[in-house]
Order: sequence, then structure tokens, then C-alpha cells
Amino acid sequence: MNFEFTEEQIMIRDMVRDFTQREIAPLDEELDRNGFSHALYEKMKEMGLMGIHFPEQYGGADGDAVTSALTIHEIAKGSASIALFLDAHWLAADTILYHGTEAQKTKYLPMAANEGIFAFALTEPAAGSDAAGIQTTATKVEGGWLLRGSKAWITNAGVADVCVVLAKTDPDAGAKGITAFIVEKGTPGFLVGRKEDKMGMRGSNTTELILEDVKVPDENLLGEIGGGFKIAMIALDGARISIGAIAAGLAEHAMNIAKDYANQRVAFGRPIAKLFAIQEKIANMAIGIRATQLMTYDAAKLKAEGKRHTKEAAMVKVFGAEMCSKTCAEAIQTLGGYGYSKEYHVERLLRDAKLLEIGEGTSEILRMVIGTTVLAEKD
Ligand SMILES: Cc1cc2nc3c(=O)[nH]c(=O)nc-3n(C[C@H](O)[C@H](O)[C@H](O)COP(=O)(O)OP(=O)(O)OC[C@H]3O[C@@H](n4cnc5c(N)ncnc54)[C@H](O)[C@@H]3O)c2cc1C
Repeated sequence: MNFEFTEEQIMIRDMVRDFTQREIAPLDEELDRNGFSHALYEKMKEMGLMGIHFPEQYGGADGDAVTSALTIHEIAKGSASIALFLDAHWLAADTILYHGTEAQKTKYLPMAANEGIFAFALTEPAAGSDAAGIQTTATKVEGGWLLRGSKAWITNAGVADVCVVLAKTDPDAGAKGITAFIVEKGTPGFLVGRKEDKMGMRGSNTTELILEDVKVPDENLLGEIGGGFKIAMIALDGARISIGAIAAGLAEHAMNIAKDYANQRVAFGRPIAKLFAIQEKIANMAIGIRATQLMTYDAAKLKAEGKRHTKEAAMVKVFGAEMCSKTCAEAIQTLGGYGYSKEYHVERLLRDAKLLEIGEGTSEILRMVIGTTVLAEKD
């Protein structure tokens, strides 16, 4: 695609593409069977991928939102699970990058870039889409806060060193009563709960978190008291661009399997690639992938320029996620019976794709966000 990347972005894209082909893609099937790989994380860290868009002074590579979209996009061509792992790491770390005090940035961003895994804990067993309805509480005590409650469906939680946790500091104030806290692994009472046995994205770790009177020091309060919901929504705007990038990369992975198969599979005396029914499927896949790429980089550019991108990020997430599920399903159809077997991998890609319609805001919720925004626009 011809989006205008800088020379440095192209260099990073090619470096991540090469790393993905060598180190990530060959592991995707094994990750689906065995779960998250610490060995692969160590290699990603060595490559400098974990903090690629953080400023150099905090241990990063000084990239921007376009650089992070490029990185996630390339990784997703080899493994959507690993792209999701990085997306969740950044979802948490970016809250500190954008809202942390200087002391928090100096302590935690180099850690996120070079030492530890981060997780972002908003969702609870009884509150997902209705995020303002969370019930985890944070009560003020001498020198800090006591966090009590539980979180569900937290990506990276079981392997994380640092977790950004959203809790109610004023249970009667709705969204305005939510505050963000930085919680370190090993803090007494901060426990990893049940590991989710997921349909797809099995190479990323997803667990419950249990908070039993976890004492968090005052210096780990992130942003303002009552400002946590806003911090979470800003972080999710950025992460939805990453979901667009995952959708584009994962769908391309599926399309390439379908293309290769269509060119070699013979039916009625000629390759099925010669049949219009198959050409039409590939054409629709290619159109959807290109549109998702353009929407992803357009939203990333708005973010990089410091412009509002809530609507555009929601649009690319809805469009990309649905395009990706459809592309994976059509890739299976292109392979016929073989598509339904684990041998050709597209069944795994469809299982991975479905998450994109659910995590970080469901398609239904995001259509509400887009619809209300567009209806309120003057022209
Ligand atoms: C693999 C995975 C990883 C995740 N990682 C994280 C993470 O790292 N951190 C984190 O905090 N959360 C995470 N989540 C949670 C995720 O963000 C939520 O699952 C998602 O927001 C939906 O919430 P829910 O599951 O409670 O569904 P619900 O909110 O119960 O929704 C159920 C259904 O009702 C629909 N619905 C609900 N309200 C409305 C409405 N007002 N209008 C129309 N339809 C509606 C939804 O669209 C959905 O179809 C993850 C989830 C998964 C599956």
C-alpha cells in the first residue's frame, strides 16, 4: 500500500516483517496449543519492540502511533495472539506515558520497554461494556489506597509484572468515581485467578485478577482521583487502532493461504483460481484488507498528530474486525474440506479473528459511539 511512511518507519516495518517471518510465524500453531511463550517475549524485548513508540529518554525507540500500528500490523501477519499480547502491553503502558507523573514515567516506561510485561485491568465479571459499573473499590488509608474486588478477562494478567487497575474511589459517582492505579506483581493480596480457556488468541495469556485489600502507595495513583474512566477511554481509542492493524494483518495471513491453495487445487480440470466464484472471494478479501489498512493508518496518523480520533478508531475496529472474521471464514470456504482441518491453519485464524469483534469494545457498543458522534456532527 502507498500510505506515506517515513524512511525510518519503513525501516522498522521491514525489520519487524523479517523478525515476524523468522521468529513469530513459525510458532503460531504451537502458541495456539501451549499458550504464551516467555522465550518469544525475550526475543521481542531484545529487538526493542516492547517500547518502540516510547520517547528515547524512557527507553523507547522514539516512534509514534504510526510506528506502533506498523509493528502490530506486521506481527499480526505471523501471529494474531502475539500482536494482541503487544497491544495489551501498550494499552497499559500508554496510560502511564500519557497520564503518569515524571517519576512514574521514569520508573515504569523503561521497565515496559526493557524489563517487564504490562496489563490493563478494567473489565470485571459483572461489568464489561458497562465499564462505569465496575465494583472494585479503592479506599483511602494512611500512605495509600486499599484495593478490593476482582477483574475478569485480563490479557497478560497471568504473566504481567505491572498492572494498571481501574477502581471506584467514589462508588456513588458513576464514571466520575473511577480512578486508575499502578499495581506491581508481588504486592500482597494481588493474585492471579483462573486462566480463561479461550476459543482463539490462545498464544496470549488471559486470566482473572483477584484484589484482596491490596495496599497501593499514594505515588502509584495514576492521573487524578476520579479521572480513571477518561484515562481508560483514551487508552482504548489508541488500542482500537491496534485492533484495526491486527485485523488487516490476520486477514492477509488468511488470504495468502487461500490464494496459494486456489492456485494449486484442481477441480473440473483446472485450478480453482480460474473460477469466478473463487476470484470473487479473493477480490472481496483484498478490498477489505486494503480498506482496513488505509483506515488503520489514517486513524494512527490522527493520533500521531495529537488530533481527536475516537470516531475513526471505533470505525476501523468495527470495520476491520468484521472484515477479518468474514475473510477467515471465506478462506476456509476456499479450501473446502481442507479448510475445516487444522492442517491448513485457517480454522485457527477464524478462531483468533472472532475476538476482534468483542475485546476493547464490542461492535455493538462501538456502533453506538460512532452513531451518536455522527448524529451530533453539524456538517
Ligand atoms: C480474549 C479477551 C481479552 C480481553 N482482554 C481484556 C483486557 O486486557 N482488559 C480488560 O479490561 N478487558 C479485557 N477483555 C474484556 C472485553 O473488553 C469485554 O469482554 C468486552 O468489553 C465486552 O464485555 P462483556 O464480555 O462483559 O460483554 P457484555 O458487556 O456483557 O455484552 C454482552 C453482549 O451484549 C451487548 N451489549 C451490551 N451492552 C449493550 C448496549 N448498550 N447496546 C447494545 N449491545 C449491548 C454486547 O455488545 C455483547 O454482544 C477481554 C476479553 C476477551 C474475550
